[in-house]
Amino acid sequence: VNGSRVYEHQTWKEIAEAVERGAAVAVPVGAIEQHGYHLPLDTDAFFARELCLAGSDGFDVIVGPLLPFGYRSRPLSGGGPTFPGTLSLSGGTFTALVREVLESLIGMGFRKLLVYSWHMENQNFVYEAAYLAAEGRDDLKVVVLETPFDGLSDTAMATMYGDEFPGWPAEHASLMETSVMLHMRPELVDMERAVDDGAEREPSYEIIPPPASVTTESGALWKPTRGTADKGKVALEEIAEHLQRVLREEFPELALA
Ligand SMILES: [Zn+2]
Repeated sequence: VNGSRVYEHQTWKEIAEAVERGAAVAVPVGAIEQHGYHLPLDTDAFFARELCLAGSDGFDVIVGPLLPFGYRSRPLSGGGPTFPGTLSLSGGTFTALVREVLESLIGMGFRKLLVYSWHMENQNFVYEAAYLAAEGRDDLKVVVLETPFDGLSDTAMATMYGDEFPGWPAEHASLMETSVMLHMRPELVDMERAVDDGAEREPSYEIIPPPASVTTESGALWKPTRGTADKGKVALEEIAEHLQRVLREEFPELALA
């Protein structure tokens, strides 16, 4: 309706037409998870849909339905399960959710599908779901982006981080997510409450239940106070370009003139 590419905004007739003309459907998968003192719980779900929309601009791709729930938050990449507000699905439930949604989309006739995840912990499970949904079929193509980008250009990294980069797992609720939110959705960012933080230790292994020393007090894992809307614009553009490249490579016929 009204030219929107959001799946949930289509009528059933518009979905039938999208299937008929061979459009792709891209399913954004996020999480409802604490993002420090200053960002909302739906940060990952919001990014999954909005960055997927930005990255598929200019292509015949319907974006959705948004799957806002993710696999369990882990201490070293999302703060872990102890924060109020964080919702977590088990691996089996999460895989089944993604798989059944993909099967429904395939059932209604979509043959070009993409899964776009913004939440590190969803990796492997989204692949498993897509694998099972497509298993034994040779009449379709499912592209799975377990992470929304491979990395940023040297220029973008220099602009955003200078010479201090903590690695992507520690970037939870920190510079990148804060910046992109400041750029896209500033009304939901409370910079006065943002605090830089860091876990007392970052072991290369997991401990269950997670001790307090492997996560942070605030839930931000690094330095959100370094976030700015300008940095967010740089990141958004590169992340969107990444998906553009993937679409040009995998579904070149969907580029709109
Ligand atoms: Zn996040």
